[in-house]
Amino acid sequence: MKPIILQNYAECQWVAGVGGLAELHSAIDGEVVARTSSQGLDFAAMLRFAREKGAPALRALTFHQRALLLKALADALTAKKDALYALSYNTGATKADSWIDIDGGIGTFAVYQGKGRRELPNQRLLIDGDVEALSRGGTFQGLHVYTSLQGAAVHINAFNFPVWGMLEKLAPTLLAGVPAIVKPASATAYLTEAAVRIMLEANVLPPGALQLIVGSTGDLFEHLTCQDVVSFTGSAQTATTLKSHPTILREGVRFVAEQDSLNASVLGPDATPESPEFDLFIKEVAKEMTVKAGQKCTAIRRAMVPAGLLDDAQDALTARLRKTTIGDPRDEATRMGALVSQSQRHDVRAKIAMLAKDAAIVFGDPDASPVNEKGAFLSPVLLRCERPWEAKAAHDIEAFGPVSTLMPYKNGDDAIALANRGKGSLVMSVFTHDAAFAEAVTLGAGAFHGRIAFIDRESEKESTGHGSPMPHMIHGGPGRAGGGEELGGIRGVKHYMQRTALQGSPRVLSAITHRYMAGAPTEAAQAHPFRRTFHDLPIGYQLTTKAREITLDDIEHFAHFTGDTFYAHMDEAAAAANPLFGGRVAHGYLILAFAAGLFVDPDPGPVLANYGLDNLRFVKPVKPGEAIQVALTVKDKTLRKPDQGEVRWDVRVTNREGEMVAAYDLLTMNAA
Ligand code: NDP
Repeated sequence: MKPIILQNYAECQWVAGVGGLAELHSAIDGEVVARTSSQGLDFAAMLRFAREKGAPALRALTFHQRALLLKALADALTAKKDALYALSYNTGATKADSWIDIDGGIGTFAVYQGKGRRELPNQRLLIDGDVEALSRGGTFQGLHVYTSLQGAAVHINAFNFPVWGMLEKLAPTLLAGVPAIVKPASATAYLTEAAVRIMLEANVLPPGALQLIVGSTGDLFEHLTCQDVVSFTGSAQTATTLKSHPTILREGVRFVAEQDSLNASVLGPDATPESPEFDLFIKEVAKEMTVKAGQKCTAIRRAMVPAGLLDDAQDALTARLRKTTIGDPRDEATRMGALVSQSQRHDVRAKIAMLAKDAAIVFGDPDASPVNEKGAFLSPVLLRCERPWEAKAAHDIEAFGPVSTLMPYKNGDDAIALANRGKGSLVMSVFTHDAAFAEAVTLGAGAFHGRIAFIDRESEKESTGHGSPMPHMIHGGPGRAGGGEELGGIRGVKHYMQRTALQGSPRVLSAITHRYMAGAPTEAAQAHPFRRTFHDLPIGYQLTTKAREITLDDIEHFAHFTGDTFYAHMDEAAAAANPLFGGRVAHGYLILAFAAGLFVDPDPGPVLANYGLDNLRFVKPVKPGEAIQVALTVKDKTLRKPDQGEVRWDVRVTNREGEMVAAYDLLTMNAA
């Protein structure tokens, strides 16, 4: 195959770099797959283009519109993913490995587009938390909001997941309304370039929303400002170099780092060779060593077992590893492909030699070439470290390949302390059926690990396993792992936004957020709100109902009708002895039901369904003979489909004295 000349995508132009092109080799046979360079790019102009063209265009869209962009991009990638799979073999990946990278990446876009539309408002601003009362009279309040950063996100990615690595950063970035400049690792940049081409050909992104650098970043860092974010995945060494760049320090540029990690997996003290958790642990360690030939930031590097099970675990693990078919990833019988490059294999062999200083190699020959000399093939290598507290390399050195070290621990506390010796990791897994041990691990090790997966016989069938970062859950870890955090659902979007505390009157804050806040002006309903369509309901439109008395008969009737004959409603003496009530009171649900009876308009109309309540509080008991009245106010609106929208109503139920007895948000689906 003729090598591809990779192109950069800068300021809406595909351009090849000038000068000497670096050669990128196939992991399978060493042939040149592509040539690449970014020389000649005007990096300052790329940043300017992102800030001046891409950023305002993305910020003009609402979260829902941006989510629809992600959907269109995911659809485009899905339609052309076969071409990506074909290229991916050159990285050494088997079809199953590529599935994690390509379908996993597209799946991340799918999750973010869904979450964006369900969990974010159809607005350009995101409210964080509740209103804070800052004054006695309520005329001065506080509220936190997120707005999009106005710069560019620079994504610097590792070689191992050329598609997923890009998409997992791109999904939250675009959803946040921020343009991206993607710089993939050179070794596998041809696959990233192909995925970028597919996304751009979909023709849905505004100009400047996505640019690509296939080569070095030149003087890009010199031009960063406090509105830009660098999101980096790679080695600790490069992370340290980049985050101490003078411009990053001087300008206070956000820097998110995902780097090396000595992830641990612990077989719980409750396990025996016969317990299901023992088998699950062995399978998972073997899987984590061989999937992607162990080139996963989340792979298990340290496998810890109760001291008495060390021999059993070694026997079971070596028996399993022996069955691994290593070979050309294009061959369907192959279970483990090649490392990404000869230089990566060289690096892994050097790291194994360091690990072998305080551990014995009990499986695999790191110096053999199991398939051919030209490809970057390496057998899985299992080490056994008898005295993990005396060892240093096992807890410090990450061999980024099919390599893991088995080690014994004395008891649960010892296992936790050993796991924490990695000085911060992306993920730890624990194979235990003992919930008390799981709690001890969480309290003892939580602060050192970005994610902890507990796996046992109950969850095994549906568990996503030790190594898979899920878009819903955070990916990142403290200390050695870089201290960064990505994904985690909507949390990941906020890394590309600025949180600002707003202070002002309810009127001003309501106008800024397009959300009614108590104390803001209302519009007294002329027509009943249930007679108005979604688009015809202004924020602050308010219906105040007449009052309705709640009698003892009502309470008794409700109690017998529903079966809720709790003493506080039915037994005068017992209710009088209750320190909160001092006598019989109406059921909270009766108040809710009567409130609905007061505010609904019965005839068919634009309100299609009531589908829930949020933030319900019963604030003050209502005694027989007291009356309730309701204020129903349009609080917020979100169009969910072209012809339907969710209306959030602020509902306040008060007594005759005007004191609040209940408050909640009511959600209805209304015809648009
Ligand atoms: P590197 O740190 O060498 O490279 C990571 C990225 O940084 C690449 O895109 C690389 O580009 C780029 N880069 C390197 N130097 C500079 C620089 N001076 N300025 C700008 N960009 C630069 O790591 P590898 O890609 O070799 O990955 C290997 C290591 O990364 C593994 O050993 C592992 O520890 C870690 N890793 C961590 C992951 C995580 O999620 N925590 C995931 C994957 C890997 P180029 O390729 O062009 O040099």
